[in-house]
Amino acid sequence: MPAIALPEIDPERCTACGRCVAACPPHVLWLESERPQGWGRKRAMLHDADGCTGCAKCHAVCPFDAIRMVRQPD
Ligand code: SF4
Ligand code: SF4
Repeated sequence: MPAIALPEIDPERCTACGRCVAACPPHVLWLESERPQGWGRKRAMLHDADGCTGCAKCHAVCPFDAIRMVRQPD
């Protein structure tokens, strides 16, 4: 069943601390560089939206208030 809400990560606020990545039970978040081959700033990305359960643990652990849960259309 698709998640009711998915995390939206604000790239301006994300410091790539990795706490959300560590907290995500199904491991659907990872840290990714903005530019190819690992260059540029890193930030958290949702790489598998279908695997996200919408549990909001990532939102709860982010110390920088960079994740908001966005309700998905029915
Ligand atoms: S809402 Fe839950 S399952 Fe989805 S990315 Fe955040 S921690 Fe992972
Ligand atoms: S916990 Fe917040 S600041 Fe840290 S990587 Fe995740 S979104 Fe970025």
